[in-house]
Amino acid sequence: MTPAEVLERLDSSEDGLTEDEALRRRAQYGLNQLVRAKSQNVLVRFLRQFHNVLLYVMSGAAVITALLQHWVDTAVLFAAVVINAIVAFIQEGKAEAAMNAIRAMLSPHATVVRAGRDKDIEAAELVPGDIVKLVPGDRVPADLRLISVDELQVDEAALTGESLPVDKSTEAAPVDATIGDRFGMAYSGTMVLHGQAVGIVVATGSASEIGQIDQMLKKISTSSTPLLRQISHFGRVLALVILLFSLGVYAFGVLWHGHSVKEMFTMTVALAASAIPEGLPAIITVTLAIGVQRMSRRRAIIRRLPAVEALGSVTVICSDKTGTLTTNEMTAQHVICAGQTFDVEGAGYTPKGELALDGQVINPADYPALIDTIRAGVLCNDSTLRHEDGAWTVVGDPTEAALLVLGIKVGMPYRATEAEFPRVSTVPFESERRMMGTLHADPHGRPLILVKGAPERVLDLCVVQRDQHGDSPIDTEYWHRVAAETAARGLRVLAIAERHGMPRTPETLEFEDLDGGFTLLGLVGIIDPLRPEAIAAVRECHRAGIRVKMITGDHAGTAREIGNQLGMSGDSPAVTGTEIATMNDAELQAVARDCDVFARVSPEHKLRLVRALQAEGEVVAMTGDGVNDAPALKKADVGVAMGTNGTEAAKEASDMVLADDNFATIAAAVAEGRTVYDNIRKFILFMLPTNGGEALVVIAAILFQLTLPLTPAQVLWINLVTSATLGLALAFEPPESDVMDRKPRPRNESLLSRYFVWRVVLVSVLMAGGALSMFLLELRLGTSVEMARTMAVNAIVVAEMFYLLNNRFLMAPVLNRIGLFGNRIALLTVVACVALQLAFTYAPAMNAFFGSTPLGYVEWIKAAGVGALVFVAVEVEKAIVRRHRARR
Ligand code: ATP
Repeated sequence: MTPAEVLERLDSSEDGLTEDEALRRRAQYGLNQLVRAKSQNVLVRFLRQFHNVLLYVMSGAAVITALLQHWVDTAVLFAAVVINAIVAFIQEGKAEAAMNAIRAMLSPHATVVRAGRDKDIEAAELVPGDIVKLVPGDRVPADLRLISVDELQVDEAALTGESLPVDKSTEAAPVDATIGDRFGMAYSGTMVLHGQAVGIVVATGSASEIGQIDQMLKKISTSSTPLLRQISHFGRVLALVILLFSLGVYAFGVLWHGHSVKEMFTMTVALAASAIPEGLPAIITVTLAIGVQRMSRRRAIIRRLPAVEALGSVTVICSDKTGTLTTNEMTAQHVICAGQTFDVEGAGYTPKGELALDGQVINPADYPALIDTIRAGVLCNDSTLRHEDGAWTVVGDPTEAALLVLGIKVGMPYRATEAEFPRVSTVPFESERRMMGTLHADPHGRPLILVKGAPERVLDLCVVQRDQHGDSPIDTEYWHRVAAETAARGLRVLAIAERHGMPRTPETLEFEDLDGGFTLLGLVGIIDPLRPEAIAAVRECHRAGIRVKMITGDHAGTAREIGNQLGMSGDSPAVTGTEIATMNDAELQAVARDCDVFARVSPEHKLRLVRALQAEGEVVAMTGDGVNDAPALKKADVGVAMGTNGTEAAKEASDMVLADDNFATIAAAVAEGRTVYDNIRKFILFMLPTNGGEALVVIAAILFQLTLPLTPAQVLWINLVTSATLGLALAFEPPESDVMDRKPRPRNESLLSRYFVWRVVLVSVLMAGGALSMFLLELRLGTSVEMARTMAVNAIVVAEMFYLLNNRFLMAPVLNRIGLFGNRIALLTVVACVALQLAFTYAPAMNAFFGSTPLGYVEWIKAAGVGALVFVAVEVEKAIVRRHRARR
C-alpha cells in the first residue's frame, strides 16, 4: 500500500489525529505496550533467599541439634534462618518495587503530530493512525508505515538479527516481502541510526511485529556487583573456616579434654552459630537498594547496580557542555554581518528586544545583509517556538530556537517567512557534520539553498561574502578571526550562508550538494548561560579528588571560556578533535591526563578518550546523549545518559540516567555512591566483632573447661537482635560530612583493610574479655549460672548498642550532637533493641525458652558498664589513630 492509502485506511492525515480521536482509539486498541511477563513466583522468590552458604551451615547445625533433641537450640537456629530469609525477602521486594518505579521513569517517549502540532508523549500512549516523527537515536515506538523519509537508516538487529544498517524509503513492498525487505516500514523496537522520517502507526503493543520495548526494559539489570561477589566469596570462605575450626575444637574437646561427645556437640554448635554473620547478605542488599533509592531522589536513575559502587570510586568525570554544564537556554546576542556587529537585547525565549548598533537602537529593515542573515537562520531551522500560558517554550533544538526568537524580534516569525520561501527539502543537522542545509523556493520561484553551522565548516563552502550593498570575494581570514573572538567570549557561533541554484537532483537536497559556491551572510553569537549549580559541583568534585573534563562539540574558544568560568581548565589549552585525530594512543593518553577541555570532539573521539583515561588507571564517568555516544557510554566505568535530551540509544547504553541532564546530579550521585560503600563497610565493621566476641567467649570456655557463658540459643538471640535492629540502622546512615573531601577509593581496595581487621580484633577482644570476666566473677560471687548468663547476654548487646554509635563515623568522633542523634533510625533501633532485651530478661516465656532470668539494677549497671567500656575504648583508639594519621 502507498503511504496515502495507509493514511486513508487508518482514517488519519499528515496533521495526525485529534486528541479526542486518539483517546477513543486508545480505548479500542489499548496501550502501546506488551503484557509484561509475570514476575517470579513469590514462593520461589522466598525460597531463593535460603540459597546462601551461611544459612546452609546454620540449617545443618539445626538438624544436628534436632537429632540430639536439643529442641530449644533447633527452634532458635531455624528461627534465625527463617527470620533472615524473611528480612531479605521483604527487602528484595522493596528493591524491586523501587526498580519498577525507576523503569517507569525511563519509559520511552515519542514525538507525535496531533491536530497539526508536534507533541512529546509516552510511547505507550500511541495509537494506530498516529503520525510519529523519527530522529537519530530514537527507538521506533510502534510499527510505522513511513510517509516521508530523509536519509533514514535503521538498525533492525533487534528484529532480524541483521547488524548492517538498513536504508529506508517510502516505497510500497510486494505483499509477500519478508520483514527485512519491507523498506517502507520502521518496526517497533528497532533503532534509528541516521536521518529523519515521519511515519504513521499501523500496529501497537502486542500487535506490533516485536515487543522489543519490553525486552529493552528488561535489560535494566539487577545483576550482581563486584562488591556483592566479593562479599559472597567472603561468606563462603568464612563458612569454611568456621566449619573447620568448629570441627577442630570439637576434636580437641573430645580427645584432649575428654568431654562427652554430646556435650562437645552443644559447645561446637554454639561456636559455629556465634561466628556466622547470618545477617550479612540481607543487609548488603538493603544498603545497595537504599543507595539506589536515594540516588533516584536526587534525580540520578541507576540502570545497572554495579554503577552504585563504581560511582563511589570515580576519579574522572567527562561531561558534555551544552545542557549539562550549561542551561541550554540559548539566546542570540550578536549578529555580525557586512562588517558590523549588531547587539540583540533580551534573554531567554521571550521574543522581546531591540537590535542596536554601537549602542543605538536601529531599524533592522535598513540593513539588508542583517535581514538576509536572520531570515536564513529562521528558514534553515527545525525547531518550534510555543507560547502557552504566558510562557515561551521550545520543541526541538534550543540553538535553532534562539534563531526563531531572533526572527520574531525583527518581525520575521517562522510561519510567515516560510510561506514566502517554502521549504522543499532538508539536510538535517548532525553533530558529525556540524551543519544543516535546507532547500527553498524564493519568491521568484528560484531554488535557494541555505546552510548554517559551525563557522569553519560553513566558511569552507563560501567564496563570496554579503556586504552592505552587493557581494564581494570573501575575506576568510577576517571571518575566522571574528568567529574566534566571539567564541572566546563563551558564545556559541553559527555561520549562515546561501546559494542560488538547483541541487543535483531537483527538489531533493543531499549532503553532497553542500559542496561550495556559497555566499556568507553573517555570524550569530549565541549565549548559553552556565548552570549556577554546575560551578559549585565542579568545585566539589575537585575537592573530592575527581577531575572534571569537558568534552564538547562546540568551538574551542567557546569551550575554553566556559571551562574558565567553571574554574576547570587552568592554563592548559583546549584540545580539538582535529588534534586528537592525529595523535596515537600514547600521545592521547598524555593529553587526556593533562588537559581538561576538549572541543569539536566527535563521538568516536569520546571512545578513544575513555580508553586513554582508563589506560591511565582512571575510573571514568562519561556523559552522552546521541546514538553515536553509545560505545563510549558502554566503555566508561559509569556511562551517564541524559534523561531529558538523550536518545533512547544513549540511555540503553548507560549505567545511569540523569533525569534533569544536570552535571550537579552526577556529583550528587558520586556522594551517594561513596556513602553506600561507607555504610557497607560500617556494617561489616559493626557486625564482625559481635561474632568475633561471641566466638572468643565460647572458645575460651572450651579451652579452659569453663561453664558456657552463652548457650547456643542465647548466641543466636544476640546475633538476631543486633543485626536485624542495630545493624540495619547503618544501612540508613546519611553521608558523612567529609564524603566529598576525601580522595576516591582505589578500585580494588579490599573491604577489610588491615586497619579494619585490627579494629575487629580489638572490639572482639574487649567484648569477649568484658563479658567473660564479668561472667566468671559473678559465678565466683555465687550468682546463679542463669543470672550470670543473662548478664553476659545483656553486656554484649549493650556493648553493641554503644559500638553502633562508635561506628556511625568511621574515624570522626561521635561524642557530639550529630554523632549521637544524627541518625534517627539508629536511635529507633536502639530503642527497639532495649525493648527486646527487656523482654528477653523479664518475659516469663522468654525466661523459659532461653534460660534467662530477671535482673536487678545492680546487675544492669554491671552489664551496661562492660558495654560502656567498649565505647570509650573505641573512641580513644579512633582519636589516637586520627592524631597519628594527621601527623603523617
Ligand atoms: P556538547 O557535546 O557539549 O553537548 P554540543 O552537543 O552542543 O556540545 P553540537 O550540538 O554537536 O555540540 O554542536 C557542534 C557545533 O555545531 C556547534 O558549535 C555549532 O557551531 C553547530 N551547531 C549546533 N547546532 C546546530 C544546528 N542546529 N544547526 C547548525 N549548526 C549547529
